[in-house]
Amino acid sequence: MKRLMTAMLATLTVTAALAEYPEKPITIVVPFAAGGPTDKVARDLAEALRKPLPNATIVIDNTGGAGGTLGAAKVARAPNDGYTLLLHHIGMATAPALYRSLSYKVLDDFEYVGMINEVPMTVIGKPSLPANNWAELMKWLEANKGKINLANAGLGAASHLCGLLFQQSLKIDMQTVPYKGTAPAMNDLLGGQVDLMCDQTTNTTGQIEAGKVKAFAVTTSKRLTTPALAKLPTLDESGLKGFNVSIWHGLYAPKGTPKPVIDKLNTALKAALKDAEFIKREEALGAVVVSDARVNPAEHKKFVEAEINKWAPVIKAAGQYAD
Ligand code: ASP
Repeated sequence: MKRLMTAMLATLTVTAALAEYPEKPITIVVPFAAGGPTDKVARDLAEALRKPLPNATIVIDNTGGAGGTLGAAKVARAPNDGYTLLLHHIGMATAPALYRSLSYKVLDDFEYVGMINEVPMTVIGKPSLPANNWAELMKWLEANKGKINLANAGLGAASHLCGLLFQQSLKIDMQTVPYKGTAPAMNDLLGGQVDLMCDQTTNTTGQIEAGKVKAFAVTTSKRLTTPALAKLPTLDESGLKGFNVSIWHGLYAPKGTPKPVIDKLNTALKAALKDAEFIKREEALGAVVVSDARVNPAEHKKFVEAEINKWAPVIKAAGQYAD
């Protein structure tokens, strides 16, 4: 009898705690530097979550490095109480093929909250680059073989994946320069310390619009409609047949986070993704907010699994690994 009472009391306490969730700040770990595209999505999402989670304070923790794997590992090891979350991108799915000894298991060590958006990428160059369009870029690349630098956010980052495919398609090797995120990489590109970068439109649209970087192409199979990007050709139409890379972001929690907490977060996420202001901001930067079933935990997990299977052979073929 006493045991039953204790169990009932424990259940009541958990239920009461969940009813009040969140009752302390929620930390969203962004596995890249502040000011970059993943960080921007997290900060805009935190703003859009204010209405569905009115008593939540959301803190962003930028733990960049190693292509997003340091931040992901941090969340995999965090207490599974709903107060530490991870906002990650396609790197969630590419890391298993790139790292021989990844300290976490993408499909086993996380609860999936849902998918957020899909984001195209752009090939951009430093302002002092003498090329102004694709044909001129090709000539410049040919003339400068062996001396070209390509910035990225580390092995496993979206910029790495895109850059890898770009080099493979062109059959030109470039010296890659890794950063903790593409915000610091963009600073160096603007300063002319690196030559090229492939990065999300959520980081490049403003710079392209302001004419501060050279923009050469978009990575999707279709041209984009965002005004500042609409004039850019696709890589496919520029001669890199079949090139089609669009990345995505999702929200995750450590494995074992109670289901009622995940459900509450998922309901809040769905509301945030319908927030007109959030949609407007994303669209202005070329991103598309997810409105299909992938916003659900199970469907997003299935999607990530499919992405792991899609990219693993491509990465293996490129022979890129890290320990
Ligand atoms: N855009 C970066 C990447 O290449 C990540 C970031 O800085 O948000 O994956």
